[in-house]
Amino acid sequence: MSANLVHDIVYEYSYTQLYGLTFMYFFLLYFGMAPLFDKSCIWLKKKNIIHRINARKATKRQKRMERIHSLKSIFVFGFSVVPVVYLIRSKTIILLPDTFLNIVLGVLCLTLWNEIHFFVVHRFMHIPFLMKTVHKVHHKSIVPTVYSVYSFHWFEALLLSTVPLTILPLIPFSPIAVFLYPLTSILLNYSGHCNYRFGKGKGVEWKLFGTRHNTHHGAFKKNYGFASNILDKLNDKISQQRLSKK
Ligand SMILES: [Zn+2]
Ligand SMILES: [Zn+2]
Repeated sequence: MSANLVHDIVYEYSYTQLYGLTFMYFFLLYFGMAPLFDKSCIWLKKKNIIHRINARKATKRQKRMERIHSLKSIFVFGFSVVPVVYLIRSKTIILLPDTFLNIVLGVLCLTLWNEIHFFVVHRFMHIPFLMKTVHKVHHKSIVPTVYSVYSFHWFEALLLSTVPLTILPLIPFSPIAVFLYPLTSILLNYSGHCNYRFGKGKGVEWKLFGTRHNTHHGAFKKNYGFASNILDKLNDKISQQRLSKK
């Protein structure tokens, strides 16, 4: 992306154009990449590199339902660009130059923030009232698939779309880091929903990636974090300490 194009998008494009571009971006990330990721998993399974987690296969009906809910979420995600660009134009959000280091550190930082943000939103979603009215949509996929990644109730999609908005006013990022973040995020999400894993579910921590969120879909409790279980462990410790004080 040239610096001029980035400048034009951020400062010259209308909010309707920005919505359209953001909608198309998420649409391509989802409908373009999900089948590719799925096919790669099948190929890697044939080569014995990855293994299926849950033997039960998702039905065509489930995948159709996931695509419909994901399309609704993409409509919601499109709006996420509006407050961010408004705050850039009113100089509340400061942008950094697109150097290689700014891009790499920015994507890492946004991914880390996404993990904390996801844990908080997801834990909140498991309050009985929200579970019954909102989060049940995502848990309809008891055996998750690559198509489950955006399969949310619109309210959950709205909350999850605030990852950049809740950190950009506090920490400056480069525009390309912000642009690349949804790509890294959906790749992580595909890994955690594809129902495949490295190994047989035992062993070193990183190999268990994808197992926990997959298990969460069927268990409806525990494993509220996504890529890591650090926040779950911390949460359990705090709960135990509270209980022992009573
Ligand atoms: Zn999920
Ligand atoms: Zn959940």
